[in-house]
Amino acid sequence: MKRKKRFLLWAMLVILSFSIYGCSSQVKKQETTGVAMGTIVTQTVYVRESSKEDKTDITAQITNLLNDTEAQISWRLDTSDVSHINAAAGNAEGYELPENLSENFEVIWQVSKASGGAFDLTVAPVVRLWDIDTWVMKEAEELSAEIIPTKEQIKDKLSVTGYEDVAFADGKIYLPEGYMLDLGAAGKGMACDRIVELLESQEQGNAEVQGAVISLGGNILTYGSKPDGTAWKVGIVDPFRPDRYLGALTLSGTKFVTTSGDYERYVEIDGVRYHHIIDPSTGYPADSGVRSVTILSENGLIGDALSTACFVLGREKALELAKEYEVEILIVTQDGEIVMSEGMEKVFSLSK
Ligand code: FAD
Ligand code: MG
Repeated sequence: MKRKKRFLLWAMLVILSFSIYGCSSQVKKQETTGVAMGTIVTQTVYVRESSKEDKTDITAQITNLLNDTEAQISWRLDTSDVSHINAAAGNAEGYELPENLSENFEVIWQVSKASGGAFDLTVAPVVRLWDIDTWVMKEAEELSAEIIPTKEQIKDKLSVTGYEDVAFADGKIYLPEGYMLDLGAAGKGMACDRIVELLESQEQGNAEVQGAVISLGGNILTYGSKPDGTAWKVGIVDPFRPDRYLGALTLSGTKFVTTSGDYERYVEIDGVRYHHIIDPSTGYPADSGVRSVTILSENGLIGDALSTACFVLGREKALELAKEYEVEILIVTQDGEIVMSEGMEKVFSLSK
């Protein structure tokens, strides 16, 4: 009897260990680099695969999602919702917002308000006038003082901006005539939120995503955990030496790290730097005493909108706004000083 019991116990252990082995999933790393929304996208995704048949190419799904998001919100594509909104400016009928944009616009409008218009979803006419995105592709000799907009031109374009003039009612958006939207300062953050939704939905599918790091230019998303259990490390570019990292953030779980700076999309004309972040109160590239602002947040869209708002606001007001939104912030000032919120200090380490 005793021997029979011992045999049963042994048999059970064998079955148990076999089933653990059978269920144990292999973690595979999927990596890809591409281009979307005018920037380089790199994806590293760790996928648990329970069987060979479950090979879901998650990076291809993310690429499709980014392309779909761009097709919906790019103001450069005539068929996008944002282009339709712009075409309907001044139209009493307004434009019916698709469900997946409605909430996003509410958040964007709120950040416009909370930042006192430092972030302004309607600043596009002034952004187009400066046209920095086109200028950065030109050779230095093609750039001269003649292309810099005049004060009159800026004043003229500023007259068709103002987030307060945008109206929302019954799921529709209404823009006054001549107004225009540009989601350059928030679109990549929106896309990051959609990626997290996609990754979370995978948990119910066959291939589970254990962890991922996705980078869309200055927007970096960490998700889940690394197979080896170590923390995510996200580098922060030194705005004074963009080929180097100033330091790194040590993070766990799902986080959004968004940086806005004057060191990537800019041109120099007669020794003056003109960059792509416009101060809506002046119509000129923001000159608030900062070179870069990094926001660490639990939401991609908020992080993106706040990084731009805080860059325009400058040190003191930026710290206040970050506190109001309960996000962490790191500012590099024009003097090279690094200013951080308390929570940021805990996760930031300076490069040696
Ligand atoms: P952020 O600080 O996040 O944003 C700066 C951008 O926001 C500016 O470029 C301007 O568009 C806008 N902006 C400036 N000042 C303000 C302000 N005060 N308030 C609100 N908004 C402001 N680039 C290309 O070169 N080619 C493309 O085809 C292209 N397509 C894109 C499609 C989409 C959907 C998106 C989201 C971006 C695209 N871009 C493209 C990049 C875009 O033009 C911007 O350069 C980029 O989004 C800037 O992001 P950032 O993180 O550097 O700066
Ligand atoms: Mg931004």
